Amino acid sequence: MSARRRTRQLHYGSLPVGGDAPIVVQSMCNTDTRDVAATVAQIKALTAAGCELVRVAVPDREAARALAAIKQQIDIPLVADIHFQHCLAIEAVAAGVDGLRLNPGNIGADARVLEVVSACRERQVPIRIGVNAGSLEKEFADRYGHGPRAMAASALRHVALLEKHGFELIKISLKSSNVLETVGAYRLLAAEVDYPFHIGITEAGTVFRGAIKSAVGIGILLYEGLGDTLRVSLTGDPVTEVFTAYQILQSLGLRRRGVELISCPACGRTEIDLEGLATAVEQRLRHIVAPVTVAVMGCVVNGPGEARAADVGIAGGRGQGLLFRRGEVLRKVPEERLLDELVAEVERFVAEIHC
Ligand code: SF4
Repeated sequence: MSARRRTRQLHYGSLPVGGDAPIVVQSMCNTDTRDVAATVAQIKALTAAGCELVRVAVPDREAARALAAIKQQIDIPLVADIHFQHCLAIEAVAAGVDGLRLNPGNIGADARVLEVVSACRERQVPIRIGVNAGSLEKEFADRYGHGPRAMAASALRHVALLEKHGFELIKISLKSSNVLETVGAYRLLAAEVDYPFHIGITEAGTVFRGAIKSAVGIGILLYEGLGDTLRVSLTGDPVTEVFTAYQILQSLGLRRRGVELISCPACGRTEIDLEGLATAVEQRLRHIVAPVTVAVMGCVVNGPGEARAADVGIAGGRGQGLLFRRGEVLRKVPEERLLDELVAEVERFVAEIHC
């Protein structure tokens, strides 16, 4: 795996992004921002799942007015996503948001860019430039064709508009729904700037397809050392985006949070409902924050051996299973009690390693 790209460090509130900070997991609300209660509830659910930075859409003044109330009730930094209207950006900064997602080239005259930059500078609010392959400026598409070069050139133009006013609290994303196009664009831009990158595959799709596509795209980028924050974009509950993000980071050994579940695929030796059990274990252990490896194996012949690396695990047999901990068998448990006893043992394990 390549060493992580050296980037400047920014702060969203007290959250560091870039430099040697851990790669940050972020998500975006799909609630109506004007509905403060629903948006706050979703942000709290995201926070409980491990989301560290959250973005909300600000399409109008009413949404901008809701930001202060949202900000007061949440515990993670808040980013306002704004297109075209610079006055909404000014209002969002005044409301106390910790970051903006805004393309300076889309808000009109340079005086407007200066106004936004001045507000952001005063409160040390970073701006994320977000280039999307689907809405590339015509001049770059004409010059380079649709693809990585046009995306990188578009980002550099937005960067120049901010740098012109001496503003360098910049983060950049270059998103496409095409994995190779996205990777190509980040590679090109990495050679040009040292601003932190926010990475992801946009419009990746429904949970199953989107998670796979995101894992491939984000995985390649992270493997190449590119990426300081990430979002997995899924059509579905954003809480699932956060779980998926941690799975990707965990697979590459970049972050650890919660349960790493090892479960065997089952085979002709399996005599318990392994799929049902593994799915239920995953659900029941979602509240665990401490890193712990849990195994759900189909048989006693190979199970404990194959899952030697697990902290706690079960191996199924006929009508019963073995509960084991770090390779040692603890006891036999009837099948109908396996789920509860495994969950209790994991909770005991977590409590012990943290006392
Ligand atoms: S652990 Fe047992 S049941 Fe699961 S795949 Fe291996 S041999 Fe089959």
